[in-house]
Amino acid sequence: EDSDLPLEITGLTKTYKNGHLAVADLSFQVEKGQVLGLLGPNGAGKTTTLRMLMGLIHPDSGEIRIFGHRVRPGAPVLSRLGSFVEGPGFLPHLTGRDNLNLYWRATGRPLEDAHMDEALQIADLGSALDRPVRTYSQGMRQRLAIAQAMLGLPDLLVLDEPTNGLDPPQIREMREVLVRYAAAGRTVIISSHLLAEVEQVCTHAVVMSGGRRVAAGPVADIVGPSGRRLEDAFLE
Ligand code: ATP
Repeated sequence: EDSDLPLEITGLTKTYKNGHLAVADLSFQVEKGQVLGLLGPNGAGKTTTLRMLMGLIHPDSGEIRIFGHRVRPGAPVLSRLGSFVEGPGFLPHLTGRDNLNLYWRATGRPLEDAHMDEALQIADLGSALDRPVRTYSQGMRQRLAIAQAMLGLPDLLVLDEPTNGLDPPQIREMREVLVRYAAAGRTVIISSHLLAEVEQVCTHAVVMSGGRRVAAGPVADIVGPSGRRLEDAFLE
Protein backbone atom coordinates (compact mmCIF):
# COMPACT_ATOMS: atom_id res chain seq x y z
CA GLU A 1 0.00 0.00 0.00
CA ASP A 2 2.89 2.36 0.65
CA SER A 3 3.39 4.78 -2.22
CA ASP A 4 5.62 7.74 -2.98
CA LEU A 5 2.63 9.83 -3.99
CA PRO A 6 1.81 12.31 -1.20
CA LEU A 7 -1.81 12.70 -2.29
CA GLU A 8 -4.16 11.03 -4.71
CA ILE A 9 -7.82 12.05 -4.77
CA THR A 10 -10.19 10.08 -6.98
CA GLY A 11 -13.84 10.81 -7.74
CA LEU A 12 -14.40 12.64 -4.48
CA THR A 13 -18.00 13.72 -3.93
CA LYS A 14 -19.75 15.32 -0.97
CA THR A 15 -23.32 16.52 -0.61
CA TYR A 16 -24.28 18.23 2.65
CA LYS A 17 -27.44 17.22 4.51
CA ASN A 18 -29.29 20.24 3.11
CA GLY A 19 -28.76 18.76 -0.36
CA HIS A 20 -25.97 21.13 -1.35
CA LEU A 21 -23.43 19.46 -3.64
CA ALA A 22 -20.15 20.91 -2.29
CA VAL A 23 -17.60 18.66 -4.06
CA ALA A 24 -18.42 16.83 -7.30
CA ASP A 25 -16.33 13.99 -8.73
CA LEU A 26 -13.04 15.68 -7.88
CA SER A 27 -9.80 13.96 -8.88
CA PHE A 28 -6.22 15.20 -8.71
CA GLN A 29 -2.72 14.17 -7.61
CA VAL A 30 0.01 16.02 -5.77
CA GLU A 31 3.63 15.01 -6.18
CA LYS A 32 6.57 15.30 -3.81
CA GLY A 33 8.17 18.74 -3.62
CA GLN A 34 5.12 20.57 -4.95
CA VAL A 35 3.52 23.57 -3.29
CA LEU A 36 0.01 23.09 -4.60
CA GLY A 37 -2.70 25.72 -4.44
CA LEU A 38 -6.32 24.60 -4.26
CA LEU A 39 -7.83 27.65 -5.86
CA GLY A 40 -11.42 28.75 -6.29
CA PRO A 41 -13.95 31.44 -5.39
CA ASN A 42 -15.88 31.36 -2.11
CA GLY A 43 -18.11 28.33 -2.01
CA ALA A 44 -16.06 26.41 -4.59
CA GLY A 45 -15.62 23.50 -2.18
CA LYS A 46 -12.02 24.02 -1.07
CA THR A 47 -12.63 23.83 2.67
CA THR A 48 -14.90 20.81 2.24
CA THR A 49 -12.12 19.09 0.27
CA LEU A 50 -9.49 19.91 2.91
CA ARG A 51 -11.77 18.69 5.69
CA MET A 52 -12.22 15.35 3.92
CA LEU A 53 -8.47 15.22 3.37
CA MET A 54 -7.88 15.64 7.09
CA GLY A 55 -10.43 12.93 7.87
CA LEU A 56 -12.75 15.40 9.61
CA ILE A 57 -15.77 14.64 7.40
CA HIS A 58 -16.66 11.63 5.28
CA PRO A 59 -17.03 11.79 1.50
CA ASP A 60 -20.19 10.26 -0.02
CA SER A 61 -18.03 8.54 -2.61
CA GLY A 62 -14.52 8.55 -3.99
CA GLU A 63 -11.30 8.10 -2.09
CA ILE A 64 -8.30 9.94 -0.74
CA ARG A 65 -4.92 8.28 -0.47
CA ILE A 66 -1.98 9.79 1.36
CA PHE A 67 1.24 7.97 0.52
CA GLY A 68 -0.96 5.13 -0.67
CA HIS A 69 -2.94 4.86 2.55
CA ARG A 70 -6.65 5.50 2.41
CA VAL A 71 -7.75 8.35 4.67
CA ARG A 72 -10.18 7.33 7.36
CA PRO A 73 -10.92 9.35 10.48
CA GLY A 74 -8.38 8.53 13.16
CA ALA A 75 -6.17 6.53 10.78
CA PRO A 76 -2.45 6.68 11.63
CA VAL A 77 -1.66 8.22 8.25
CA LEU A 78 -3.06 11.48 9.60
CA SER A 79 0.02 11.95 11.77
CA ARG A 80 1.91 12.57 8.54
CA LEU A 81 -0.36 15.54 7.88
CA GLY A 82 0.08 18.97 9.34
CA SER A 83 -2.89 21.23 9.35
CA PHE A 84 -3.60 24.86 9.92
CA VAL A 85 -6.99 26.00 11.05
CA GLU A 86 -7.46 29.72 10.85
CA GLY A 87 -7.06 31.67 14.08
CA PRO A 88 -5.79 29.08 16.56
CA GLY A 89 -6.07 30.24 20.13
CA PHE A 90 -2.62 31.40 21.08
CA LEU A 91 -2.20 32.63 24.64
CA PRO A 92 -1.40 36.34 24.16
CA HIS A 93 0.72 36.82 27.29
CA LEU A 94 3.03 33.90 26.44
CA THR A 95 5.85 34.09 23.91
CA GLY A 96 5.50 32.45 20.52
CA ARG A 97 7.99 29.79 21.58
CA ASP A 98 6.07 28.99 24.77
CA ASN A 99 2.83 28.77 22.82
CA LEU A 100 4.39 26.27 20.42
CA ASN A 101 5.82 24.20 23.27
CA LEU A 102 2.46 24.19 25.01
CA TYR A 103 0.71 23.12 21.82
CA TRP A 104 3.18 20.34 21.16
CA ARG A 105 2.89 18.97 24.68
CA ALA A 106 -0.91 18.95 24.28
CA THR A 107 -0.60 16.74 21.20
CA GLY A 108 0.99 14.08 23.41
CA ARG A 109 3.48 13.26 20.67
CA PRO A 110 7.15 12.84 21.58
CA LEU A 111 9.12 16.03 21.18
CA GLU A 112 12.09 15.81 18.88
CA ASP A 113 14.22 18.88 19.43
CA ALA A 114 15.82 18.52 16.00
CA HIS A 115 12.39 18.60 14.36
CA MET A 116 11.30 21.62 16.29
CA ASP A 117 14.56 23.43 15.53
CA GLU A 118 14.24 22.71 11.82
CA ALA A 119 10.59 23.78 11.74
CA LEU A 120 11.40 27.04 13.52
CA GLN A 121 14.30 27.69 11.18
CA ILE A 122 12.04 27.20 8.17
CA ALA A 123 9.29 29.39 9.63
CA ASP A 124 11.93 32.09 10.24
CA LEU A 125 10.18 33.92 13.05
CA GLY A 126 13.47 35.41 14.27
CA SER A 127 13.52 37.22 17.58
CA ALA A 128 9.72 37.52 17.54
CA LEU A 129 9.64 33.96 18.83
CA ASP A 130 10.69 35.24 22.24
CA ARG A 131 8.16 38.08 22.40
CA PRO A 132 4.63 37.75 23.78
CA VAL A 133 2.09 36.90 21.09
CA ARG A 134 0.03 39.97 22.03
CA THR A 135 2.76 42.11 20.41
CA TYR A 136 2.43 40.22 17.07
CA SER A 137 0.94 41.65 13.89
CA GLN A 138 -1.73 39.59 12.11
CA GLY A 139 0.94 38.42 9.67
CA MET A 140 3.20 37.26 12.51
CA ARG A 141 0.34 35.38 14.14
CA GLN A 142 -0.29 33.59 10.89
CA ARG A 143 3.41 32.73 10.59
CA LEU A 144 3.31 31.33 14.12
CA ALA A 145 0.26 29.22 13.22
CA ILE A 146 2.13 27.87 10.22
CA ALA A 147 5.20 27.18 12.35
CA GLN A 148 2.86 25.25 14.65
CA ALA A 149 1.58 23.13 11.76
CA MET A 150 5.21 22.45 10.75
CA LEU A 151 6.46 21.37 14.18
CA GLY A 152 6.36 17.64 13.55
CA LEU A 153 7.75 18.17 10.02
CA PRO A 154 4.82 16.37 8.37
CA ASP A 155 5.58 14.97 4.91
CA LEU A 156 2.37 16.59 3.70
CA LEU A 157 1.54 20.02 5.12
CA VAL A 158 -2.03 21.19 4.57
CA LEU A 159 -2.86 24.85 5.19
CA ASP A 160 -6.31 26.41 4.82
CA GLU A 161 -6.03 29.96 3.45
CA PRO A 162 -2.60 30.73 5.00
CA THR A 163 -2.22 33.93 2.95
CA ASN A 164 -5.59 35.34 4.00
CA GLY A 165 -5.19 38.99 5.03
CA LEU A 166 -1.45 39.18 4.34
CA ASP A 167 0.06 42.12 2.45
CA PRO A 168 2.30 41.55 -0.61
CA PRO A 169 5.64 41.50 1.29
CA GLN A 170 4.16 39.02 3.78
CA ILE A 171 2.91 36.86 0.89
CA ARG A 172 6.44 36.82 -0.57
CA GLU A 173 7.80 35.74 2.82
CA MET A 174 5.14 33.04 2.95
CA ARG A 175 6.30 31.75 -0.42
CA GLU A 176 9.87 31.54 0.85
CA VAL A 177 8.76 29.65 3.95
CA LEU A 178 6.65 27.13 2.00
CA VAL A 179 9.22 26.61 -0.75
CA ARG A 180 11.90 26.01 1.92
CA TYR A 181 9.60 23.51 3.56
CA ALA A 182 8.95 21.62 0.32
CA ALA A 183 12.59 21.75 -0.81
CA ALA A 184 13.44 18.90 1.55
CA GLY A 185 11.17 16.55 -0.44
CA ARG A 186 8.08 17.44 1.57
CA THR A 187 4.82 18.59 0.03
CA VAL A 188 2.55 21.53 0.76
CA ILE A 189 -1.12 22.10 -0.10
CA ILE A 190 -2.77 25.45 0.53
CA SER A 191 -6.21 26.78 -0.30
CA SER A 192 -6.83 30.29 -1.58
CA HIS A 193 -9.56 32.23 -3.34
CA LEU A 194 -7.09 34.60 -5.03
CA LEU A 195 -5.35 33.64 -8.25
CA ALA A 196 -2.64 36.25 -7.60
CA GLU A 197 -1.78 34.62 -4.25
CA VAL A 198 -1.51 31.16 -5.76
CA GLU A 199 0.58 32.62 -8.59
CA GLN A 200 2.98 34.12 -6.00
CA VAL A 201 3.20 31.20 -3.63
CA CYS A 202 2.58 27.90 -5.45
CA THR A 203 4.33 25.70 -8.00
CA HIS A 204 1.10 23.92 -9.04
CA ALA A 205 -2.61 24.57 -8.79
CA VAL A 206 -5.95 22.83 -8.94
CA VAL A 207 -8.77 25.24 -9.75
CA MET A 208 -12.25 24.48 -8.42
CA SER A 209 -15.60 26.05 -9.17
CA GLY A 210 -18.96 24.82 -7.96
CA GLY A 211 -17.32 21.76 -6.41
CA ARG A 212 -15.74 20.71 -9.70
CA ARG A 213 -12.20 20.77 -10.98
CA VAL A 214 -11.96 23.28 -13.82
CA ALA A 215 -8.18 23.35 -14.32
CA ALA A 216 -5.01 21.73 -12.97
CA GLY A 217 -1.30 21.90 -13.66
CA PRO A 218 1.85 23.96 -13.12
CA VAL A 219 1.04 27.53 -12.03
CA ALA A 220 2.74 28.88 -15.16
CA ASP A 221 0.09 27.10 -17.28
CA ILE A 222 -2.82 28.11 -15.05
CA VAL A 223 -1.94 31.81 -15.08
CA GLY A 224 -1.34 31.94 -18.83
CA PRO A 225 -3.97 33.45 -21.13
CA SER A 226 -6.57 30.87 -20.07
CA GLY A 227 -5.68 31.59 -16.44
CA ARG A 228 -6.63 35.23 -16.88
CA ARG A 229 -10.04 34.11 -18.06
CA LEU A 230 -10.31 32.04 -14.90
CA GLU A 231 -9.66 35.15 -12.84
CA ASP A 232 -12.44 36.98 -14.71
CA ALA A 233 -14.78 34.15 -13.77
CA PHE A 234 -13.88 34.69 -10.11
CA LEU A 235 -14.71 38.38 -10.28
CA GLU A 236 -18.03 38.10 -12.12
P1 ATP B 1 -14.78 29.53 1.33
O1 ATP B 1 -13.53 30.13 0.81
O2 ATP B 1 -15.93 30.50 1.41
O3 ATP B 1 -14.62 28.72 2.58
P2 ATP B 1 -14.80 27.08 -0.07
O4 ATP B 1 -14.33 26.97 -1.46
O5 ATP B 1 -13.90 26.64 1.00
O6 ATP B 1 -15.27 28.54 0.19
P3 ATP B 1 -16.71 25.33 1.11
O7 ATP B 1 -16.59 25.98 2.43
O8 ATP B 1 -16.13 23.99 0.93
O9 ATP B 1 -16.16 26.27 -0.04
O10 ATP B 1 -18.26 25.28 0.73
C1 ATP B 1 -18.75 24.73 -0.49
C2 ATP B 1 -20.26 24.87 -0.51
O11 ATP B 1 -20.85 24.04 0.49
C3 ATP B 1 -20.73 26.28 -0.22
O12 ATP B 1 -21.79 26.59 -1.09
C4 ATP B 1 -21.21 26.23 1.21
O13 ATP B 1 -22.31 27.11 1.41
C5 ATP B 1 -21.66 24.79 1.37
N1 ATP B 1 -21.44 24.31 2.74
C6 ATP B 1 -20.28 24.35 3.43
N2 ATP B 1 -20.41 23.78 4.65
C7 ATP B 1 -21.70 23.37 4.72
C8 ATP B 1 -22.51 22.70 5.73
N3 ATP B 1 -21.95 22.34 6.90
N4 ATP B 1 -23.78 22.46 5.45
C9 ATP B 1 -24.33 22.81 4.26
N5 ATP B 1 -23.65 23.43 3.29
C10 ATP B 1 -22.37 23.71 3.50
